[in-house]
Amino acid sequence: MKEELLELRQKADKDLKELRLPEDIERFRVKYLGRKGLLSEFLSRIPSLPQEERPVIGRLANEIKVDISKRFEETTRALGEKQPRTTIPIQDVSLPGRTPPIGHRHPLIQTIGDIKDIFARMGFQVAFGPEVELEYYNFEALNIPLDHPSRDDFDTFYLDDEVLLRSQTSTVQIRVMQRQKPPIRIIAPGKVFRPDTVDARHSFMFHQIEGLMVDEGVNFAHLKGVLTLFARAYFGPDTRMRFRPSFFPFTEPSAEVEISCTLCKGRGCSVCGSTGWLEILGAGMVHPNVFKAVGYDAEKYTGFAFGMGIERIAMLKYGIDDIRLFFENDIRFLSQF
Ligand SMILES: [Zn+2]
Repeated sequence: MKEELLELRQKADKDLKELRLPEDIERFRVKYLGRKGLLSEFLSRIPSLPQEERPVIGRLANEIKVDISKRFEETTRALGEKQPRTTIPIQDVSLPGRTPPIGHRHPLIQTIGDIKDIFARMGFQVAFGPEVELEYYNFEALNIPLDHPSRDDFDTFYLDDEVLLRSQTSTVQIRVMQRQKPPIRIIAPGKVFRPDTVDARHSFMFHQIEGLMVDEGVNFAHLKGVLTLFARAYFGPDTRMRFRPSFFPFTEPSAEVEISCTLCKGRGCSVCGSTGWLEILGAGMVHPNVFKAVGYDAEKYTGFAFGMGIERIAMLKYGIDDIRLFFENDIRFLSQF
């Protein structure tokens, strides 16, 4: 019994030293000094002890109870002096609120949105297609024959003999034309993949936006009109444009389209290689073989298609000199847009 009492006192001492909060104080009081507390419980057992032990244990128990009570009061008082008198937290309602950090869209997504808006005003709808494609949609249907160099393994990520990561968004043209009859006016933004070594100008993944318009009587003047309107709306009303003959398997005739340099306005600088011109996209009239692949009557319908790299457009617009900045997730770069 005596050991039990001394142990109880030790425990109470230890708990007293750890008292910090008002709720701890109350918990301590109930545990040791309450009517059903450990000390009361102990005292209630004394009558059942042998006659000769009762006075000794009883006295000791009472001493310990008084001692703990006294020190409990002291501790409570000391703690009470440290605590603020009021329980209402002090708030300065005149302080400005904390603004939670809010993100925004990635500059590439913003660029796609800006381009979509311009073409939407000309009646173009947005279309999407799979990034994992069949070889047929990436090459054959686009009039790219088996011996074309870009079909080489080195220029395309092949997953197996017939499945690949699309290397251009032109695949969406075919899928849309298979689904619906003319008139067609679509743009198709999305990711494309090419096994290029990453440097300031190249990435193994980048974004393209493809355009396609098919109807009876669509001609090269429509293509020029639509692209000129786009270039002026996106790069500014003074932007000039020129078409240079080119070759793509899926268009005939084909053109490389250049705009007057956004930086030097055509006088010549390092960005445009002193030429005053910047190439922004490839375009042309849809090749009859492409119409044949989707079952359109090439005698009845004509159309134009164009494709541009989103990163390149954004780099020219904002004066960015390294494509890797788009993909490194550096907040210092991204927060500028
Ligand atoms: Zn220039």
